[in-house]
Amino acid sequence: MRRVSIFGATGSIGQSAIDLIRRAPDKYQVVALTGGRNIAQLAKDALELRAEVAVTAFPECLGDLQAALAGSGIEVMAGEAALLEAADRPADWILSAIVGAAGLAPGLRALRQGTTLALANKESLVAAGPLLMREAKAHGATLLPVDSEHSAIFQALVGEDINAVERIIITASGGAFRDWPIDRLATATVKQAQTHPNWDMGQRITIDSASMFNKALEVIETKEYFGVRPDQIEVIVHPQSLIHALVGFSDGGIMAHVGPADMRHAIGYALHWPDRGYVPVERLDLAKIAKLEFRAPDEVRWPALRLAREVINAGGLTGAVFNAAKEIALDAFIAGQIGFMQMAEVVEEVLAQNSDAAGHNNDVITLDMVRKTDHLARQAAKEIIRKLNA
Ligand code: NDP
Repeated sequence: MRRVSIFGATGSIGQSAIDLIRRAPDKYQVVALTGGRNIAQLAKDALELRAEVAVTAFPECLGDLQAALAGSGIEVMAGEAALLEAADRPADWILSAIVGAAGLAPGLRALRQGTTLALANKESLVAAGPLLMREAKAHGATLLPVDSEHSAIFQALVGEDINAVERIIITASGGAFRDWPIDRLATATVKQAQTHPNWDMGQRITIDSASMFNKALEVIETKEYFGVRPDQIEVIVHPQSLIHALVGFSDGGIMAHVGPADMRHAIGYALHWPDRGYVPVERLDLAKIAKLEFRAPDEVRWPALRLAREVINAGGLTGAVFNAAKEIALDAFIAGQIGFMQMAEVVEEVLAQNSDAAGHNNDVITLDMVRKTDHLARQAAKEIIRKLNA
C-alpha cells in the first residue's frame, strides 16, 4: 500500500485527488488529510478514507473537528505547527493543494523527508522556486507538477533533452472576460469574474484566470520547473482549453499535450508516475470537437502577463513580492475595495516599491527571507489599497 497525504484536502484539487484515491481503497493508506474551515468535509473524508490524522489549519476550528471525529481513533490536530508535523509523517506521495502562500512551509517540510511532492500550490513555487528546488535536490525528493499546463510540459519532455527545447507555449482559456470590450473590464464584478468558461475550480484561481494573474504565475512556474529563459516561454489564448501546453524543439517539431479540462488527469498522472494508470476522465471525441482556436494574448487587456516577465527578469525574491501583492489585491477585489483592473495596478506599484527584492542570490534564499519579503509586500499592497479608498 502506498502511503499518501493530502494538504488542502477540502479544496477543489484536494477533492479531485480524493475522488481518485477513493476508487482504489486497497492501493492507498491515507496518512494525513488537512483542511481549513470546511470541517464537515474534512471529517467526512477522514472517516471514509480512515486517515491516520486530520488537521485543520485554524486552531479555532479544532473543537469542531474533535467533536466530528470523536471515538473514531483518528488523531486530530490544528494550526500551522500541526501542518508541519503532518508533513513530517512518512508518506510516499504528498499532494500540496493548499491555496496561497500558506502552502509553502508544509510543502518545504514535506520535501525534507525525501518524498514525492505533487505540487498544485503554484504560489509556493512562484514565491520561493529556487528554495523549493534546492530543498528537493538536497533531500533526494521528487517534485511533480500538478498544474495542467506544467503536467503537460512535463509529459511532453519525457525522454527529451531539455537543451533541445526552443520554446514552451502554455495555453490560456482567456477566462470570463476574454471577449469583453477592454473598456468594460473596469466594471467587472466578482460574480462575473468567478465564472470560468471551461474549468470548475476554486473561487480565487477562477478570478485569477479572468485577470490572467493565474497565467502570470504559470509563466513564472514554467521558468522554475524547467529552467528555461523568459524569452522561451510563450502564452497563447486557446478558448477550448483542450491543449494545455506545447513544447517546441530545435528541429521545428512541436509536442502538444491534449486532454479534457479535468484536473484529475494532471493529479492522476502525478499519482501514478512514473507509470500510467487508469484515470476516469472524459475521453475526447476529436471529430465532435472539430476545431481548436488560438489567438495572441493582449497585454493591455491582461497586464499580468507583462508583469510576469518583469518578475522573472528581476529574479531574487521578486516572485515573493509578486505573489503576496497579487493575493492582497485579489482579497481587495473580492471584498469590493478595488476594481478588477486595479488589481494589476496595485501589484505593479508594489513591485516598483520593492525593487530591492531583485538583488538576492538564489543560492542563499531562505524561508525566513521569503516570509519577510511576503510580509512587506502585503503591507505595501494594503497601504496602496487604503490610499485608493481614502
Ligand atoms: P480551494 O480554495 O478550492 O482549496 C484550498 C484548500 O486550502 C482548502 O482545503 C482550504 O481549506 C485550504 N486552506 C485555505 N486557507 C488555508 C490556510 N491558510 N492554511 C492551510 N490551508 C488552507 O483551492 P484550489 O483547490 O482551487 O487550489 C489549490 C491550489 O492548487 C492553489 O494553489 C491553486 O493555484 C492550485 N491549482 C488549482 C487548480 C484548480 O483547478 N482548482 C488548477 C491548478 C492549480 P477549507 O476549504 O477547508 O477552508
